[in-house]
Formats: sequence, structure tokens, C-alpha cells
Amino acid sequence: MNRVFVLITVAVLFVACVGIPISCQNGPSGIQEPVRDYRPVMEKTPTVRVLLVNNAREAHIAVYGSYQITGSLTNIIDQGQGLPKSAISINRYGINIGAKQYSNSEIRITSLRDGEIEVNNIRYRGEIKILQQVSNRFSVIEEVKLENFVAGVLGSEMPHSWNDEALRAQAVVIRTYVMYKRKEKRDDIYHLDMLDLAYRGMAGETPRINKLVQDTVGMVMAYNWNIFPAYFHSTCGGHTEDIHQVFGKESIPPLRGVVCKYCANTKYSNWRVEMNKSDIEKRLREANISVSNIQTVNAIDQGTGIHGAIVEIIAADGGREINANDFRLLVGANNLYSTSFSAKSNGRSIAFSGRGYGHGVGLCQYGAQNMALKGFQWTDIVKYYYPEMELLRVY
Ligand SMILES: [Zn+2]
Repeated sequence: MNRVFVLITVAVLFVACVGIPISCQNGPSGIQEPVRDYRPVMEKTPTVRVLLVNNAREAHIAVYGSYQITGSLTNIIDQGQGLPKSAISINRYGINIGAKQYSNSEIRITSLRDGEIEVNNIRYRGEIKILQQVSNRFSVIEEVKLENFVAGVLGSEMPHSWNDEALRAQAVVIRTYVMYKRKEKRDDIYHLDMLDLAYRGMAGETPRINKLVQDTVGMVMAYNWNIFPAYFHSTCGGHTEDIHQVFGKESIPPLRGVVCKYCANTKYSNWRVEMNKSDIEKRLREANISVSNIQTVNAIDQGTGIHGAIVEIIAADGGREINANDFRLLVGANNLYSTSFSAKSNGRSIAFSGRGYGHGVGLCQYGAQNMALKGFQWTDIVKYYYPEMELLRVY
């Protein structure tokens, strides 16, 4: 990817910018937002490696058509017509699939046609790699075309009933995030795992979702000719947050936070939850953070989006400070919706009043949907949430 963006830099000196018709239409803003065409600075169909199963002792695989199994040296070690649902396991002799044994520490299963391989009852379009790990454990990695992966994630990360323009904007955001991870982890066994993005193979796809992804094929966001981690979240609560505040990464204009009035009066724009102090203590203890007799907690060091960077825990033993995002994940991201909250002790519990759902960085999904409903185009939406970025088509 470094090479790719050197190429982009060279391209900008020599190539006239060509707007792509679909994205050159004017939105309500009246501002033309072209996508600059730098094709082909990347291979036509880049792939991405996704960790599907990690450190497991058992998983299941099935193939519904012709398939081939190759070893790490790409020599064919087996082939067949359909594979009934079979258990994958490891022993000291190698990898077992059903009753068959392969004396390899890595095998790759490819089907003749897309989407004929099933792992743990989910269909995948890509090639499946099984890698032996220590103690009879293994990982399963899918190597899939990037556009297919974007479609799978889009179908899992945003409601299918939402507006086309919001879904197109989300597709570009996902693609940019994936390209960033692909660059960041280019030398690793895999680029993304199941914690990075919601992905359930083909289960998230529909013909409409695939078409909306295809409408923006190869289009990504860049700042200063670099792809950036295009985070997104459900609801910002009024202002998106600076990336540095939440993830400690470099604060660049597209990820510095913007005012967002578009998610006002939505499901999670304002909320109130109550949590038992003993539950909070228990969850913290499970992560080896010991505090006893919590009095209250405070979200401090708030950024421009009013999301706290630190949570200060006031307790009988003096308390402590921990990273706010870590705190939220420890007590449950679906219990404490965001780190933009104020808290009040209420006897045995703490009452949290807050705004928004998610970490608050990048695209606000409810905001994007409401912008789309007001008639904004996907280009307006991404330009709004990631100021000063450039839209590029790279393949
Ligand atoms: Zn918002």
C-alpha cells in the first residue's frame, strides 16, 4: 500500500482529474464533490485476509461443489466433489477434516465457484486457510475479494431498510477502513479479525446491498494522499469525537470531530442507565482491576465531542483512573452506550446520563441516515463527517 500511495502521489502530478458521473451530481449543498479517478493504482481485485476462527480446538467445514486442497507450497494434496459437514481438528500428525488427515501445518481450501464453502454454518465467498497453532489448536482465515468483504460487512453494520445514500456512504467508509487495516497489517497472517468489523460472510449480502457497494467500487477516502482509519459508530450525540481522544492516534482534520445535528432525537441521542456498583466492581475485577466500595465514577478529559478520555473511579480505597473506552468495554458496550456521560451515585447503583452510542469517532450512522433522508448524497455525507479528505477511485 505504501507503493500504491507513492503511485498516487506521482499520479496527481501527471493525471488530469476525472470526475466519476455518479458522484458528481450536486447535493443540497450545491457543492460539486468529484471522486478523483486514479485507476489503476491498485490491482483490479485486491483481497483481504480475515480471521474467522481463532485458537480453536474444533470447527466445522462443508463444501457444496468441486474443491481443491493445497498445502503451503501450493501443491494440490486433495480434491473432490462436495464435502459434507465435517469437523476440523488438529493432532500431532497434522490437520484432520472429518476422517481425512493432512500432514501439513497449513492447508488452503478453494472451491470452483464463489460461495460454496461453509465454516461453522456461515457461507463464505473466499478461499479458506486452516493454520495449525500450538496445543492442538488452529485458526481459520478467509482470503476474500475486498468488494465482497465490504458487502458482507455493510449488510451487518447498517440496517438494510436505510436509505441508499446512507448505505453508499457506509460502504465507502468500510472500504477505507479495510484498506487502512490492510496497509497497517500487510505483513501479518491476517488483516482484520471479528472484533474489527461485524462480518458474517454472505449472510449480510442481498442483491441490493451488493449493488450499492458496486456503485462505489474502488472508491476510498484519503488525507494528504494517505488512507486513514475511517472509524464509524452508531450515534455521536451532537458532536463526533477527535480520534486522539479515543484511540490515541494522530489527530488529522478528517478525524478531529464535527458538529452533528443530524442524530438529534434518535434512539440513542440521549439515554439514562443504571448499573449496580457491585456489578461494575465484579466486571473490573475480572480484568484484574481491583477497586472496592465504588462511590461514583466520572468521565474526565473530555474532547470536542464531550466524550471522556479517562474514567476516574472514586472508591473507598482511593480509586483509580482508566482509559474511558476500556472502561466502557469492560462494563459492557451495550450497557454503557458511550463515554459521553455524567454519573451520580444512587445508593447501591450509579445512574448514568449520557449521549450517543459508540466511540464517537468518524461517521455517525444515525446522522448519515438523516442526512440521506434530507436529500444529501453519499458524497455530501462522507465529506461532512470526514472534513478535508479526498475521494479517490483506486481500482
Ligand atoms: Zn451524530
